[in-house]
Amino acid sequence: METSEDSEDKWPKRSRMLGPDRYVPRLHDIPLSELSAAGFRGLIIDLDNTLLGFRQTELAAEHAAWIAQAHDRGFAMVMVSNNFSDRARGVAHRLGIGCIPNALKPLPFGFMRALKQLGLPRKQVAVVGDQFFTDVLGAKLCGNLYTILTEPIETHDFPITKMFRMLERFVLPERRR
Ligand SMILES: [Mg+2]
Repeated sequence: METSEDSEDKWPKRSRMLGPDRYVPRLHDIPLSELSAAGFRGLIIDLDNTLLGFRQTELAAEHAAWIAQAHDRGFAMVMVSNNFSDRARGVAHRLGIGCIPNALKPLPFGFMRALKQLGLPRKQVAVVGDQFFTDVLGAKLCGNLYTILTEPIETHDFPITKMFRMLERFVLPERRR
């Protein structure tokens, strides 16, 4: 039988570097049992291309199920998005999680508001997002929060995001494949 210490060992340690601490293909690939065993209690989740494709309005069943499981496991969750649309609030509301739109990531203010909403110490909070220059960098600038980088759901992005994607290939070996 697996002990909680085994799961903790499996979970990649927080890096002191600016890079992501863990990679997963999609949000729903994050093993909640391992996350919980590693001491995490709260999640800050990006919207566009992490939770929902850039042009999608309906959440994938896998992502909705993953969020429901996270609720069941007692995770506190806040969406932090640079998107300013009602779409962000609508999705967060449907999922029963907090929402901070217009976050201006990688500036730390949105993450700081999210931490306050979660009411948890930094070491218990993980940030999940698909972009290095907004989600990962912002989380690291906000007191080295633990970061999980996902692959983007869609390849279509805002023009500014397209530029960041090109730069990501220079700094992240995982993006060069
Ligand atoms: Mg995104």
